[in-house]
Amino acid sequence: MTQQTDTRESQQAKAGAIIVPVTLFEQNCTIIWSEPSKKAVVIDPGGDVPKILEAIKQAGVTVEKIWLTHGHIDHVGGASELRDTLKVPIEGPHKADAHMLEHVVESGARFGMTGVRNFTSDRYLEEGEQVHIGELTFDILHCPGHSPGSVAFVSAAQRFAIVGDVLFRGSIGRTDIPGGDHCQLIASITDKLLPLGDDVAFICGHGPTSTIGQERATNPFLQ
Ligand SMILES: [Zn+2]
Ligand SMILES: [Zn+2]
Repeated sequence: MTQQTDTRESQQAKAGAIIVPVTLFEQNCTIIWSEPSKKAVVIDPGGDVPKILEAIKQAGVTVEKIWLTHGHIDHVGGASELRDTLKVPIEGPHKADAHMLEHVVESGARFGMTGVRNFTSDRYLEEGEQVHIGELTFDILHCPGHSPGSVAFVSAAQRFAIVGDVLFRGSIGRTDIPGGDHCQLIASITDKLLPLGDDVAFICGHGPTSTIGQERATNPFLQ
């Protein structure tokens, strides 16, 4: 049900992560925490909130924030419920996706997802800003193309990133949904993600993890 992985160790802080696949879209809701404080963030709680709460309990971490990579229903469907349950703020995505958060019920209805709620973020994120959890710092990259307000969370110290639906192992995000733009997506990947360095590992919104180096060498959409 959940996979346990350890992100790379740096001199200062250590981090842990688990992926909890949620919704019928098998979206990779990800819990990241810093060691030894066990302060944690839940990224993209798309739904199945009880399953996420169980994973938090099993990991023995204290969630202090919710981060969102973009506004699509499979990434945000459980965000409002989780915020109310845990009493923590929601950070992200970029404000260009704000209207999607205000229409979660409507989008959910299209996929038979009930119990979802419309909401607003406590903090929209801009290119170059930083967010923190415990001793960990993540830089924000605004990566439009899959959706106008997609952001990536990058920990330079951990050589690790969360990229949502921008880049996948062997594929890239869809651009055939409203707000999608193929050229913009390719530019986001080539101008912002690839320069992070080949050793940077990343978790994507769906499917297995990868590294920048592997995608640079083998991703058919980037050749
Ligand atoms: Zn998406
Ligand atoms: Zn998705």
